[in-house]
Amino acid sequence: MYCRLDLAVLSPTRQDPHFPFENTYARLPDRFFARVSPTPVTNPQLVRLNEPLAQELRLDPPTLRTQEGVAVLGGNRVPEGAEPLAMAYAGFQFGNWVPQLGDGRAILLGEIVGRDGVRRDVQLKGAGPTRFSRGGDGRAGLGPVLREYVVSEAMARLGVPTTRALAVVTTGEQIVRETLLPGAVLARVARSHIRVGTFQFFAGRGDTDALRALADYTIARHDPAAADAEQPYLTFFRGIVERQATLVAQWQLVGFIHGVMNTDNTSVAGETIDYGPCAFMDAYHPQTVYSSIDRAGRYAYGQQPSVARWNLASLAQALLPLFGDDEEAAVARATEVLESFQARFEDAYRDGLRRKLGVTEPRDDDSALADDLLTCMAESGADFTLTFRGLCDALGDTPSASAAVRRLFPEPSAFDAWAARWRQRLATEQCSNAERRDVMRAANPRFIPRNHLVEEAIVAATTRGEFGPFETLVEVLTHPYDDQPANERCTRPPRPDQVVRQTFCGT
Ligand code: AMP
Ligand code: MG
Repeated sequence: MYCRLDLAVLSPTRQDPHFPFENTYARLPDRFFARVSPTPVTNPQLVRLNEPLAQELRLDPPTLRTQEGVAVLGGNRVPEGAEPLAMAYAGFQFGNWVPQLGDGRAILLGEIVGRDGVRRDVQLKGAGPTRFSRGGDGRAGLGPVLREYVVSEAMARLGVPTTRALAVVTTGEQIVRETLLPGAVLARVARSHIRVGTFQFFAGRGDTDALRALADYTIARHDPAAADAEQPYLTFFRGIVERQATLVAQWQLVGFIHGVMNTDNTSVAGETIDYGPCAFMDAYHPQTVYSSIDRAGRYAYGQQPSVARWNLASLAQALLPLFGDDEEAAVARATEVLESFQARFEDAYRDGLRRKLGVTEPRDDDSALADDLLTCMAESGADFTLTFRGLCDALGDTPSASAAVRRLFPEPSAFDAWAARWRQRLATEQCSNAERRDVMRAANPRFIPRNHLVEEAIVAATTRGEFGPFETLVEVLTHPYDDQPANERCTRPPRPDQVVRQTFCGT
């Protein structure tokens, strides 16, 4: 007894980190998941810990940095209160039905109710094989893990709902892909990991009891008010439609391309999830695709709203048994809710475009004004982020004010004609230029995780073990709407030799 006490005093770091887990998903029936512990790795080393996020989760950063803490984040130690499991799900991948996917390389440790009262999953991605690995190794490469860290945290700072990145741990092991790559584990945090594909898993098996249990669980977790509605399941579905519509509108407004909008990568909590071959667009064009696996452009930038609607239609199909016994009536109700998607999306997207242009008093012809700028940008290959940010500085009616944004258009005459219309439109409003500039600067980021910068950070880390560029990029993107003159370099589009044409999912 004394001996144990002495040891505790002598080596205070030899404490297990405390994770205040309060798990609920693990209480669902067995067929919802496979219980499995992470497979230990040779040499877990902490690359980055997201301290503010750790604190939001009521975790203690110094303890997470100890050997014991890193052992948990790398999957070598299961902390007290964790009930590790891999979730079952199905999905439509590029339009093809796959009845069983599931967490093949991600393991949910448990849930924590954060300081804000929100329950969140803590999951280790790349933590080893599970019953759902389908021959895969259950591991993740350092490159894709760093990409997910940078881009998901940038999305959070841009104000877009997203899963978060808590930590990156290298494993000391190599994984076999086309070449050998350093392995890593990402500790990921989400409002939940329940996907459209989770519902489809049970619907596909005709397991209506499980479907209902999952819906009840998800309602309690994400839409508690729906439980008291006249038609709880339909109200729940409406909530999911609304969240997807506003989420995809936000993607469009920052130029984010998800790259793999399969139903297994569509969160019913309305967060951006599964950062595989995602990318931010440099030059604006609606047909932009980066993902190496998206050969037909199914998930191109301009397709994202219609794909989200397609995914929601397939969710409606899965939920039909819950919408009433009369199938025809159920289809009619579901269709009505589904049809609200377009209006929801348009409202959010159009409002966002108005803010980007500095319009404060909505008018019907604002859509044409915004669309004409986008057409002009597409024809000129103008940089999406720089054009909109440049407009914030082009409010003054002098040639010098417009010079920077004008330079983004090789043939500026079309832009000049548009800018004249834009200024006339703004002149019809009461708002001062100073006020307007603030609105615009809060809607038009100066920094995005540009592909060539993400690539540069990944190459430095994976080939030279240098994490400086990754750290710098993460820090810069913590304040994407600020000017940060010292980081001017990170605002620039890629030089021709830096252009990243393809991104890879890294699975
Ligand atoms: P993703 O393309 O990352 O959304 O993954 C699609 C499916 O493949 C999911 O069920 C993943 O769990 C699974 N998967 C991806 N990579 C691996 C891997 N290295 N080992 C096992 N399963 C994987
Ligand atoms: Mg996925």
